[in-house]
Amino acid sequence: MPKWKEAVIRRITQRSPNVRSFWLELPDREELNYRPGQFLTLDLPISDRRRERWRSYSIADAPDGTNQAELCIVRLPDGRGTTYLFEGAEVGSTVLTKEPGGVFTLPERPLDFSVVMICTGTGVAPFRAMLQERLAREKNDFHLIFGCRTAEDILYREEFEAMAEQYPNFRYTVCLSREDPPADGALEAHRGYVHQVYREQYADVNDDIRFYLCGWSQMVDEAKANLLEMGYDEQQIILELYG
Ligand SMILES: Cc1cc2nc3c(=O)[nH]c(=O)nc-3n(C[C@H](O)[C@H](O)[C@H](O)COP(=O)(O)OP(=O)(O)OC[C@H]3O[C@@H](n4cnc5c(N)ncnc54)[C@H](O)[C@@H]3O)c2cc1C
Repeated sequence: MPKWKEAVIRRITQRSPNVRSFWLELPDREELNYRPGQFLTLDLPISDRRRERWRSYSIADAPDGTNQAELCIVRLPDGRGTTYLFEGAEVGSTVLTKEPGGVFTLPERPLDFSVVMICTGTGVAPFRAMLQERLAREKNDFHLIFGCRTAEDILYREEFEAMAEQYPNFRYTVCLSREDPPADGALEAHRGYVHQVYREQYADVNDDIRFYLCGWSQMVDEAKANLLEMGYDEQQIILELYG
């Protein structure tokens, strides 16, 4: 089987001022199978050198029996890959991709630990897929701590609020670094960074927690260092680095 397959962009939606969701369909199969937390690697037409063309994107939704997957992508100023995706790609465009890959996944067995998910921006993508799959069937606690700059940058807000309403074992906390949280009171929101939240709320070290961290190295490295300093074991910290 050839390693690279042609995928078709079936839908594009603006999620926030600089984030879009792209739905990729793999026409060579009826169903796209993957584990929530895995990613797709794209070979984008942005360079003559193979390795300079590859960009990975976490799959943002759980498998739903179709041959499509949603990618949630932030446009980077001067980013070669994202400029192509935001300016050169449209519904109907094809891109090359490989089979889903990656090991940033929850164990398949029923979970016997609490999961604290820490992310900023599109780092939320793998967590959305995991929560869509697991919340209905797990008894353990999940806490999503999501950081971004302003309220308009909050990704999937209504969905996570609905999950928090429906599932008593799910908590959703938003941190805004550049403005005060909305005054509507619906959201558990703070002014500041994700680090303040887990530092305060998980100060009592507990062996039954796993911290899943996802996003760019600045946030992920700082969170890992903080958790180790707080007394958590390296084994309790699982991470996915975007760059
Ligand atoms: C496993 C994995 C999963 C990923 N999943 C996603 C995802 O779901 N959504 C998503 O948007 N991206 C994701 N990424 C990042 C993505 O692969 C690209 O790196 C990103 O889109 C930038 O590509 P580009 O070609 O536009 O930028 P490039 O032209 O490659 O330039 C990027 C440069 O900017 C730096 N940089 C990139 N992003 C940031 C940032 N936010 N803040 C500061 N510096 C930054 C990089 O380190 C690099 O030096 C993932 C990366 C990996 C490895």
